[in-house]
Amino acid sequence: MHRICVIPGDGVGPEVIASARAVLDNLDVPLRYEETVVGTPSFEKYGVYITKETLSLATESDAIFFGALTTPKRRDYVSPLLLLRWNLELYANVRPSFCLNPAFCLVPLDIVIVRENTEGLYGAAERELENNAVLTERIVSEAACQRIIDFAFDYAKKNNRGKVTCVHKANVLRTSDEMFKKLFYGTAVNYAFYNKIRSDDVLVDAAAMYMCREPGRFDVIVTLNLYGDILSDEAGGLIGGLGFCPSANIGKKNALFEPVHGSAPDIAGKDAANPTGMILSAAMMLDYLGMPEKSSLIRESVRKCFANKNNWTKDVGGECGTGEFTKRLIKIIDEKAAIS
Ligand code: ATP
Repeated sequence: MHRICVIPGDGVGPEVIASARAVLDNLDVPLRYEETVVGTPSFEKYGVYITKETLSLATESDAIFFGALTTPKRRDYVSPLLLLRWNLELYANVRPSFCLNPAFCLVPLDIVIVRENTEGLYGAAERELENNAVLTERIVSEAACQRIIDFAFDYAKKNNRGKVTCVHKANVLRTSDEMFKKLFYGTAVNYAFYNKIRSDDVLVDAAAMYMCREPGRFDVIVTLNLYGDILSDEAGGLIGGLGFCPSANIGKKNALFEPVHGSAPDIAGKDAANPTGMILSAAMMLDYLGMPEKSSLIRESVRKCFANKNNWTKDVGGECGTGEFTKRLIKIIDEKAAIS
């Protein structure tokens, strides 16, 4: 039995978590859930955004299953999600984006963005200078760059992906991003020789354009923290919206699974959230826990569900609310499971 720490969060978080839990419960997978709160609900109850108890529970669990959390407009706020990523050293943020139906995708994208998750501008030190200026310092270390590059090539190898692209801004950031690029090619050589994995590099601004104009040139992308965050939202937009995008945050001992989207307060409580990103995050969690047949069953069923326009969610012009979509998906999963 695997111990799962569940953090539904707020906004659409609890709605998409309920949907994904229904899918998992129906699959009869050996998971035991322990639910907890972070963020504003935790602050109101305990005076801190994340308690020591929650941090211990997250650390001791086999996986963390995270919905979404609203960012309060307080200067002293530190995101519990960032605290979890740093404390548990969840250094690799894996964000697949693939088109489920060309009818609602702008381009036929099928990529995986592997984003460095512990450094860069997240948690950067900022201080005010004279003349109303602000100095922002970011850290880019050789160790963290090498670690994420190794992860990306290893991911490509294990998932039969033929190419890894390094996305950077080394023409401007000539020391930090140049180091990232050099380390990338130092590693790429080995994978080209032993695993026939191709490699290239693209400036981040050009990558944003190529993703729209020539989506087929990308397979796995490895990149630094902020570039990965921005490009993965762009990728989401190209495949129908943020509701379609899952993610995994992987460390040496822990892992956290969450959709790429935020708490979407504009649609919260309206049964309008597309739960696909959360459901595909559940599939990534099953892969991580060693249940690849179950995760494939989920992915294939999601694909089959969106092949029929009657099952489309509201964000792509369909009529299915979160609950109705979940019911229809579970029916498809059951049918597929019965055949195989
Ligand atoms: P936060 O501050 O929590 O990041 P946000 O609204 O700024 O919230 P997102 O939650 O990522 O950012 O939402 C961006 C847009 O995408 C919103 O218009 C939202 O309605 C839409 N969106 C996000 N998630 C979903 C979803 N699961 N289904 C449908 N639309 C979504």
